Amino acid sequence: MSAESGIPTFRGTGGLWEGHRIEEVASPNAWRRDPRLVWQFYSMRRRAASAAKPNPAHLAIARLEKRLGERLFLCTQNVDNLHEQAGSKNVVHMHGELFKSRCDACDRPPFADQNLYDTPIEIPRCECGGRIRPHICWFGEVPFELERIYWALNPCTLFLAVGTSGVVEPAASFAGSVVGQARRVYVGPEQPANAYLFTERYAGNAGEVIPALLGT
Ligand code: ZN
Repeated sequence: MSAESGIPTFRGTGGLWEGHRIEEVASPNAWRRDPRLVWQFYSMRRRAASAAKPNPAHLAIARLEKRLGERLFLCTQNVDNLHEQAGSKNVVHMHGELFKSRCDACDRPPFADQNLYDTPIEIPRCECGGRIRPHICWFGEVPFELERIYWALNPCTLFLAVGTSGVVEPAASFAGSVVGQARRVYVGPEQPANAYLFTERYAGNAGEVIPALLGT
């Protein structure tokens, strides 16, 4: 969804950022080893995401939510807020949110945070003394809201996956968790690794295919 809005996915760059493997800046180990480098990376991502605008696919999904209300369950692996910018009210961010932070020590809830912590690089602190970290599901961490997601998959009658590579678990198996005769639709420019789980596939960019598919 968001690659078409100019949000880098890092797949095209061989998974590298300034010579670092993404795992080296997006994991609990990286946070322990070099939190400044981690905040540099996420500050760069915040900067890039704040310049991005929703594309026609985000807007079509937001219009669909207006029509279907709670019958639409929207779950994303993207950490930007382009669905919200497009007008979507109920978005489950299973990999976290770029514009939120949380404490790495206490259970204070995640909070809105647009700050850039890169010049000068000083790690923000919580009142408890813990360090403030990005509210992101890193490599090796458990995605958010899985219980709610599986709850929604069970009665699902139309499953629509957009632009995902079909490699990253557990999301890659969601289409296989939909029971019965549900339509399982994939939209994206490339064949996903889990293509066998789908009953229909529409090749193309989300911004072109989704609005046509949803009749908006
Ligand atoms: Zn704290």
